[in-house]
Amino acid sequence: MRIVLLGAPGSGKGTQSQRLVERAGIPQISTGDLLRAAVSQGTDLGRQAKEAMDSGRLVDDSLVLGMIRERLGEPDTRKGFILDGFPRNLAQAHALDHLLEALRQPLDAVVQLEVDYGELVKRIAGRRTCADCGRVFNLLTSPPTGAAAQCPVTHAPHRLLQRPDDNETTVAERLRVYDEKTRPLIDFYRARGLLKVIDAEGSVDGVTRRLMQVLGVPAARAAARPKRAPRKAAAKKRPARAKAAAKRTRAAAPRKRRAPAKARRPATARRRPARRR
Ligand code: AMP
Repeated sequence: MRIVLLGAPGSGKGTQSQRLVERAGIPQISTGDLLRAAVSQGTDLGRQAKEAMDSGRLVDDSLVLGMIRERLGEPDTRKGFILDGFPRNLAQAHALDHLLEALRQPLDAVVQLEVDYGELVKRIAGRRTCADCGRVFNLLTSPPTGAAAQCPVTHAPHRLLQRPDDNETTVAERLRVYDEKTRPLIDFYRARGLLKVIDAEGSVDGVTRRLMQVLGVPAARAAARPKRAPRKAAAKKRPARAKAAAKRTRAAAPRKRRAPAKARRPATARRRPARRR
C-alpha cells in the first residue's frame, strides 16, 4: 500500500502514521522528521533547512526532493510506504508523480485529515515528543499513560519535549503556508481519483478506525477477538433449571430506576456540536 497523508500541522498525520506502521507493516516517511534529524546531526542539508523550518516556511523543493528520492530508493519501501508531510506543494506533487512512475510504484490513495482551525491550534499547543524514542504524544488528546507511559528505549518515563517550531508565531505561519501551498493538493488528488477525506476530530482511536476503514485495513482488535456465539443460540443452550434460577434472581433484584424524563438530557444535547467552518 502506497499512501499520502495530507493535512494541516496538528491534524494528526504523525500519530496516525505511527498506527498505520504498526497495523499495515509499511514504513512512515516523514519529511519533517528527516529534516529535524538532519538539523540535529548538523549535516549540510540540516544547515540549509534550519532557517526555513524555524520561521515556519517550506524548505527548498530541491533539498526535500533529493531527500525523498534517496529514501524511496531504500529496499523497505518496496512493500509500500506512508508519506507524511510530503508533498507540500504542487511542484512536489508533480515531482512525486514522475518519481513513482519511474519506480513503477503508483500511489494507491491520498487521505486528507480534516480538522477545524481552532482545534489545530489547541492540538499543536499540547503536542510533545519523547526525546529518546521519538514517539509523539498530545497532553490533551493522547497523553503518555498506562502501557504507553514508559519509554521503550530508557525504560523510564518519557522525556517529553516541545518542538521549537510549535511556538505561537511559527504555528500561525505554518498554518498560513498550509492554506496557500498545500491545500491546492486536495483538488490535485481529487482530480486523479485518489482522494479520500476523513473527519480527523474526536478520539485518536476513532480517527484510526475511520482511516483504516477508508484504506481497507482490517481492524487489528476486531480480527484478534474470538468469535462469540449469537445471543439466541447461547440462551437456548442454557438448561431449564438455570433459566428458572436466573428468572428468580431478576425478580428478587430491586429495579433500576430511570431518571424522570425531564431530568434526562435531550438527544440533541448529546450530539456533537456543529463544527465551525
Ligand atoms: P512537519 O514536521 O511536517 O510539520 O514539518 C516541519 C517543518 O519542516 C515544516 O514547517 C517545513 O519547514 C519543513 N518541511 C517538512 N516537510 C516539508 C516538505 N515536504 N517541503 C518543504 N518543507 C518541509
